[in-house]
Amino acid sequence: MQLIPIRSAKGAYLTDYDDRVYLDAISSWWVNIFGHQNPTINAAIIDQLQKLEHVILAGFSHEPAIELAERLVQLTPPGLDKVFYADNGSSAIEVAMKMSFHYWQNTGHPKRTRYINLSNSYHGETIGALAVGDVALYKETYEPLLLKPITVPSPDCYLREEGVDWEQHSRQMFEHMEQTLAKHSGEVCAVIIEPLVQCAGNMRMYHPVYLELLSDACKRHNVHLIADEVAVGFARTGTLFACEQANISPDFMCLSKGLTGGYLPLSAVLTSNQVYEAFYDRYENLTAFLHSHSYTGNALACRTAVAVLDIFEQQPVLETNALTAAHMARRLSELEDHPHVGDIRQTGMIAAFEMVPDRRSKTPYPWQERRGMRVYRHALDAGILLRPLANTIYFMPPYILSEHEIDRMMDVAISGLNHAVS
Ligand SMILES: *Cc1c(COP(=O)(O)O)cnc(C)c1O
Repeated sequence: MQLIPIRSAKGAYLTDYDDRVYLDAISSWWVNIFGHQNPTINAAIIDQLQKLEHVILAGFSHEPAIELAERLVQLTPPGLDKVFYADNGSSAIEVAMKMSFHYWQNTGHPKRTRYINLSNSYHGETIGALAVGDVALYKETYEPLLLKPITVPSPDCYLREEGVDWEQHSRQMFEHMEQTLAKHSGEVCAVIIEPLVQCAGNMRMYHPVYLELLSDACKRHNVHLIADEVAVGFARTGTLFACEQANISPDFMCLSKGLTGGYLPLSAVLTSNQVYEAFYDRYENLTAFLHSHSYTGNALACRTAVAVLDIFEQQPVLETNALTAAHMARRLSELEDHPHVGDIRQTGMIAAFEMVPDRRSKTPYPWQERRGMRVYRHALDAGILLRPLANTIYFMPPYILSEHEIDRMMDVAISGLNHAVS
């Protein structure tokens, strides 16, 4: 397949060296929430560049790192009071996994060495993060290298029986989690989940009640809850953080992707004072948490994230997104009776539908047929960047699209669908 070198980008548009222009309907892999060359973000980076680009974050600190941490603590659910920086989503997961395990070591629970995850989950591709994911495509080859999580069936509502709604299905599926926690809690550090949407797992979605039940069960069984909001954080699901929709405070929250508006690699792991206290001790006791990346808390990246938070503060992002999401829903409803659409689903600014041979049986097209690739090619020819996951056509647009641009995106996706199933 031909790579497309991009010469420049502005707003939601990418321009290649042949002056072809593409509307980026997937936010450059879910990161670019406020557009390319965003004036607020550009100005902040230029200003920061004149002061400090980077400095060691061990024993030293700097204004953007401190301001960002303080503001994230304010914005995230109550009880998340400490911030640990890393430089991408996968390393945020590694940090949360290590910190949870180490917490139990430091507090006299040496047998807690395992993690509970959901089927069809994705948490990144470094060895630890890969192990707690469950997408075979990424994982299978490396299986012998990976620690073994206890995998519980996902509450994925695409798989619900007819006549059962999202909430009922999510409640029913929680039974598996409850039983697993009851059986294994003594050997488990944490449950790790993607709140509301399993993004890389083909945009499968579930009801917030699952998170409510899970948070409660983790407390009862004395197990940590790690919320991987790397993809769903920063207003993607309709609230600033997906956990808000269930009114829960996890023990760890991992943030990246939208955190820097798609400009620079950075991630943050938020946790509680209680977790922090388990590490804070006299040096001789050797209880400290050691996890250092060279570029941890990079000043340019932190300042970029501060500019992103400024945009959230200055503009009615959630309100605008609600209108945009409603427009996407209207357009998607046109596909309700399409003979090759098996499911239409949406959570805020994530929308998806399934391409199927027969809408009643929901059997997927064989992956070898690469029908998603046909949609990808068709859309590129029409100047839209869509990137279906297997037979799932999804939209994860930047928050700055107009209704007219949403219409263009939907028109091309629908003609792509018709082309791919013909
Ligand atoms: C993208 C993603 C990650 C990994 O982040 P990277 O920055 O790509 O390492 C982890 N979890 C979820 C839910 C993601 O979508």
